[in-house]
Amino acid sequence: MISREGLSLDPVAAFIEPGHREYRERVRAFCREEFAGGRDPDGDAQARVRARELVGLMGSAGLFAPIAGGDVRGCLVAREVLAWWSPLADAVFALQALSATPALVAGRDPGGWAARAVAGDAMGAFAMTERGAGSDVASMTTRAVRDGDEYVLDGAKSLISNAGVADFYVVFAATDPDAGTRGISCFVVPGDADGFEFAGAQVMSAPHPLGELRFNGCRVGADAMLGDEGGGFRTGMATLDRLRPTVAAGACGMAGRALREAVLHASEREQFGRTLGSFQLVQEKLAESATELTAARLLTYRAAWEKDRGAPRITVEAAMAKAFATEAAQRIVDRAVQVLGGRGVLADHPVDRLYRAVRALRIYEGTTEIQHLIIGGGLVRDSGR
Ligand SMILES: Cc1cc2nc3c(=O)[nH]c(=O)nc-3n(C[C@H](O)[C@H](O)[C@H](O)COP(=O)(O)OP(=O)(O)OC[C@H]3O[C@@H](n4cnc5c(N)ncnc54)[C@H](O)[C@@H]3O)c2cc1C
Repeated sequence: MISREGLSLDPVAAFIEPGHREYRERVRAFCREEFAGGRDPDGDAQARVRARELVGLMGSAGLFAPIAGGDVRGCLVAREVLAWWSPLADAVFALQALSATPALVAGRDPGGWAARAVAGDAMGAFAMTERGAGSDVASMTTRAVRDGDEYVLDGAKSLISNAGVADFYVVFAATDPDAGTRGISCFVVPGDADGFEFAGAQVMSAPHPLGELRFNGCRVGADAMLGDEGGGFRTGMATLDRLRPTVAAGACGMAGRALREAVLHASEREQFGRTLGSFQLVQEKLAESATELTAARLLTYRAAWEKDRGAPRITVEAAMAKAFATEAAQRIVDRAVQVLGGRGVLADHPVDRLYRAVRALRIYEGTTEIQHLIIGGGLVRDSGR
């Protein structure tokens, strides 16, 4: 059955609790109120203003509560519904989660930034990637050197969501450059810290604040460190462990919306004296998309369910969900464009907007290839030989 928000939630009903259903209704009500009349702004400057506005609105509505509670399934529910309505709002939720979760993982919240992020009073960012260090995180060259009761940061970050608009940044830097991933530490840096600079926007094809950062002798107190010295990579990976299933959920939301648009169009549009939906070749596209979406949602909610019921790590499950759901969503959105025909490539049509928005999900928080390395590497390691 196709519901208003996309596919019926029945496939994942066994993985969520009554509280998640109640929360989902609240997120839907927020979206109907906030997004029914319009769409995400096109220009980068407008998207930045809107993203900041959404942080406050979503915080006031209590939508960030699952982040504080470490409720991964709640975060899935939020991202699936938000992405259906507004990929920009989905990105806003994602970044509040990414910037607040390291403090939860580390068990301390220097400056109270994570608490403020969850309340919607501060916008966060997560700065790991550099021009020379993408998938290969350990090759980062940003350094943090201890000086008395402070650390001094030097270096640069690239492709950072919310760069230039965030109030605080969770920054990864090498404290022991020769120790690889064990030499990386994690710091909370306020956006107005001396020596910290927004180095410019990187404009994406879909609305999403993105940019570069520079650190020139940027000083933070030693208590700004999250976790132990050298434990930053572990904190970062534990954060991604929890949040990769939420990327999958965002992908499911976009895919559900695209499928819904395709079904509606196929039911109304007539060619050769019949509706498009009466042609079996069109039905095949819809069937493939519905099946892939259901499979993606099952992998996604199952991974989060494992985490919420106490699994210490869900690295492989999260990697499977992220890789499968984001790749499937790309195919589902592409099929929707095909069913829409020429209308599907008009820049203001929802499926064209989804076509541009969904692409980045296969790349950020670890590319599909990196997810496959995690899954395949685990299989080989555990082969018993
Ligand atoms: C919209 C968007 C938002 C982002 N937001 C953030 C953010 O907020 N914070 C942050 O820190 N980063 C962010 N990123 C950066 C993102 O995490 C990186 O782009 C990603 O990790 C890939 O790094 P890269 O772009 O340098 O690609 P590369 O690592 O150079 O990879 C290029 C290609 O090579 C493949 N590849 C690399 N290594 C291997 C290998 N060993 N085997 C097989 N294939 C391989 C990759 O899969 C990919 O297809 C964002 C990126 C995007 C697009």
